[in-house]
Amino acid sequence: MQNGYYIGVDLGGTKICTALVNEEGKVFKEVTVPTEAEKGELKIVENINNTIKEVLGDVKIEEVLAIGVGSPGPLDVKNGLIVETPNLPFKNFNIVKAIKDVYNTEVFLDNDANAATLGEFVFGAGMLTTNMVYVTASTGVGGGAILNGRIFRGSTSNAVEIGHTTVNIHGRRCGCGNRGCVEGISSGTAIAKTANEAVKSNVPTSLKNYDVVTSKEVFIEAAKGDRVAKEILDEALSYLGILFANLANSYDPDMIVLGGGVSNGGDIVFEKIAEEMNRRALKPIREHCKIEKAKLGGRAGVLGAAALAITELEHKNKKDGYIIYN
Ligand SMILES: [Zn+2]
Repeated sequence: MQNGYYIGVDLGGTKICTALVNEEGKVFKEVTVPTEAEKGELKIVENINNTIKEVLGDVKIEEVLAIGVGSPGPLDVKNGLIVETPNLPFKNFNIVKAIKDVYNTEVFLDNDANAATLGEFVFGAGMLTTNMVYVTASTGVGGGAILNGRIFRGSTSNAVEIGHTTVNIHGRRCGCGNRGCVEGISSGTAIAKTANEAVKSNVPTSLKNYDVVTSKEVFIEAAKGDRVAKEILDEALSYLGILFANLANSYDPDMIVLGGGVSNGGDIVFEKIAEEMNRRALKPIREHCKIEKAKLGGRAGVLGAAALAITELEHKNKKDGYIIYN
């Protein structure tokens, strides 16, 4: 790796977070601004470019080796395009070019889940692994895989869309149109939805004491012993554990890292995952594979984007990159 700076840009539907870092993940300056998605694509680009200017401060762009951008997908990573995403107005928009037009340095794009995966691999829980799978469970369920030391992107750069793995053919209808996706059962949103159905029913539950029930309240009441809250978590986390066992059997990884809001649910989360791993993953695989909590927390997006810049620049210099612009 070379000496110099990297910039990570975490582009989200509501906010843009940008940071100036070094190759060890040390953050020198970080800014967060509203995305202002409702004002259109050019305004978003202007906001991104302004955050880059702000984190640069007195540092010259020539000292920045590469910029990484993590964005919601689907993307055309190979061509630097945001194809279409529910919370941003872009349609086949070349975000890489829009940044390069202003800043003369390397720019790389990938989806936010792959960026977060790279973040945990380069700076976080998966630092010493060769094969690592990252799972995030919050609003949705997503993830990525590092195979033989490299992010695995697949043929259309949409690989490891694990949220849409079918785990129950009778499960709830998912936003993707399929029934029984793990996202529709085990995400924080899904846990809240199941809890609110229980609140509206005649079943006695302490969840009825809240004005608003999110997954957080379900974890709180389950810990206090509420039967309904415990049952809701038991089901959601069992299916999450089934996902982990399926991933373990598919990839035989050194580690599966869990991030996102659900990972903050405490011991119950990791106990349930371990239970399903023991029940369903093959013996040599489960005996080797560690299950760890993500380490980057709220900085997963922006450090992940920086990790994307670092790893892709390395591949570009070695001429074995997946992403080839210019
Ligand atoms: Zn789905």
